[in-house]
Amino acid sequence: MSVSVDSRFLSPADVANILRALGMDTCLRRLTAALERDFLRWGEFDKSARTASHSPVGVIELMPVADAEHYAFKYVNGHPQNPAQGLPTVMAFGVLSRVATGAPELVSELTLTTALRTAAVSALAARALARPDSRSMAVIGNGAQAEFQILAFAHLLGIREFRLYDVDRAATGKTLSNLADSGFEFVACRSAREAVTGADIVTTATADKTNATILTGDMIEPGMHINAIGGDCPGKTELAADVLARASVFVEYEPQTRIEGELQQMPADFRVTELWRVLAGEAEGRRRADEVTVFDSVGFALEDFSALRFLRDAAAELGLGQPLALVPDMLDPKDLFGLIGADASAAAATAAAVSRDLQGRLARVS
Ligand code: NAD
Repeated sequence: MSVSVDSRFLSPADVANILRALGMDTCLRRLTAALERDFLRWGEFDKSARTASHSPVGVIELMPVADAEHYAFKYVNGHPQNPAQGLPTVMAFGVLSRVATGAPELVSELTLTTALRTAAVSALAARALARPDSRSMAVIGNGAQAEFQILAFAHLLGIREFRLYDVDRAATGKTLSNLADSGFEFVACRSAREAVTGADIVTTATADKTNATILTGDMIEPGMHINAIGGDCPGKTELAADVLARASVFVEYEPQTRIEGELQQMPADFRVTELWRVLAGEAEGRRRADEVTVFDSVGFALEDFSALRFLRDAAAELGLGQPLALVPDMLDPKDLFGLIGADASAAAATAAAVSRDLQGRLARVS
């Protein structure tokens, strides 16, 4: 008996169509709810720190995770100098497959999706960690991630004032122009210090392969929540160690963040809390209004697992995506060699016809 593997492919245009059709607000809310559900069943996942391949100019990473039903992985790079060559700093794609058979169900772009899921995770963490009366956010680094971060914090936390800073003024101009009709209030700042002054929340989303110091201890005000997403591999940080030393620090998956996060600067016994424990009510989040909290985010495979399943369901609802002939269609699954006969497509068509005929005969007999 042969069974066809029904894999589907989602291109960047398909994912953009999902965002347009459902709307950013709905996508962020659905994805955040999916992320929270998956974080709350943390113990059900087979987890590991991602595998990274470093070069002098960047990193390429593989991020696997599985539960009893699905296995997922993401391929992602981080090359801060790419924009100078016309390429994004971060590019990604991923696969969702069934654990029962290993058959791939979905192959999808994850470049746009990474920005959406990172913004959703940032907002999920900030809902648990930022002061509930937060109204303004500084966004330092106004590149590819910036608008997604702004929209997530606006839609999910009600932030209305955004203080922008980037060493590249054109990047800030791009963000202002993309969100010109949003109705939010924007302040374009001349320095990171100016941007963070008076902000309730600070998001750092800069890209630099060398250890950078975007925030120092003297820039931090009591009660701030810092959403640090840009420091995400060895040698790539954004916060001075004294910022971490005076804050309560929360992470996604501690074994990975110890290697890749801001945490790489701190001693091995520096205390951190995994976000899932706060969401599950097993650990405290913010304890006082004047406490400084840091979400030291590096991006964890579970988040892409949630995102891939969200995309699969949204694409099915909207009839988006294309069939993908990724696995050979064979009448006899042991006859792989038969595929390279004289005319593989004719052989596959014949195999399918024989299979249909056989099923018809069996149906008549029974
Ligand atoms: P990007 O290259 O599009 O944008 C980065 C911006 O930072 C650029 O506009 C650059 O000019 C600016 N910048 C660099 N140094 C700066 C400095 N010292 N001060 C102010 N601005 C500065 O990259 P992106 O796709 O927006 O990603 C931003 C960072 O977030 C990257 O480091 C990326 O690896 C990381 N990231 C993390 C996650 C996560 O899950 N934590 C997910 C996606 C991306």
